[in-house]
Amino acid sequence: MDDKSRILKSPTLKSLYELLPKAAEDQKKDLGQAINKLKVEVNSWVTSNADDDLRSNDTKNLQLDVTAPFDVNAKKPEFLKAEQGSIHPISKEIEKVSEIFNSIGFEIFESRNLDDAWHMFTSLNFPEDHPARDDYDTFVTEAEEGEELVAPAHTSTMQSRILSLRKGDLKEGRPIAAAVPDRCYRNEDVDARHEHTFYQVEGIYVDENVNVGNLIATLKTFLSAYYGKEVETRINPFYFPFTEPSFEFALSCPFCEKEGCHICSQSGWIELLGCGMIHPNVLEMAGIDSKKYSGFAFGCGIERLIMMKYGVEDVRLFHSAKLKFLKQF
Ligand SMILES: [Zn+2]
Repeated sequence: MDDKSRILKSPTLKSLYELLPKAAEDQKKDLGQAINKLKVEVNSWVTSNADDDLRSNDTKNLQLDVTAPFDVNAKKPEFLKAEQGSIHPISKEIEKVSEIFNSIGFEIFESRNLDDAWHMFTSLNFPEDHPARDDYDTFVTEAEEGEELVAPAHTSTMQSRILSLRKGDLKEGRPIAAAVPDRCYRNEDVDARHEHTFYQVEGIYVDENVNVGNLIATLKTFLSAYYGKEVETRINPFYFPFTEPSFEFALSCPFCEKEGCHICSQSGWIELLGCGMIHPNVLEMAGIDSKKYSGFAFGCGIERLIMMKYGVEDVRLFHSAKLKFLKQF
């Protein structure tokens, strides 16, 4: 029922019509005409004034908020309680992740929703036409003239920018320490473990004499703070063009304490993120002397972190708008 018919069928108007049969015979005609006149006036007021009042937000002359949720079937009409919204779990967890990195001296940066292929690939030591570029299944814009743009498939697209922006700090004896929690896009088939739109947190640290030990210690500190308990970690060799050496970083399964369960495929370990020592070519392209300085970088899926923390088994739930799921957090 729309607002207009709701008013015209309101108990007040209806009760006036109910008076008609009880009225004296000689008054029925006048009463009927008076009620009809009132109905026409109410009708024209709702049509002409109510919209204007709502548009101008001027509620001084508006006796009734016709937009309020209203239960017309209730015996005693009552306004319905408005649903309270809440912050999305991903936003909440990004806040926590940022706070932890901030507390250990990392500056927080935002990524972008579109970037060029130079930042996405070339600045990260992906050779031109290298098949590794295709591994990322990127979305690209259509460009009739000029360069097509890429929807970043990883937050590493910010690496070269941050290194260039903060390289002056190194000469003044301060390390570059940055974390980038933001959105990424890949043309993936969506299933319980993959989404086309997802979140990553990138970490970058550069100084003199940085080594793999610093990388492991930083990740362990972050993960223990995030999960609120000591976690065991393990690294395996891997390949990324922008780090050398590169690793896959796993943590002990928080669900089964390494006993083996269906979440960790009975292995007791969960592969969580990719990391490594920043390739000298990446440092040099950003104008940093790779003979004097070294650094590490890592990229971690934020949904993965949250799923491990709360035992969520399907990544699609985060963007499902299922309130029952979202309200748990
Ligand atoms: Zn397990």
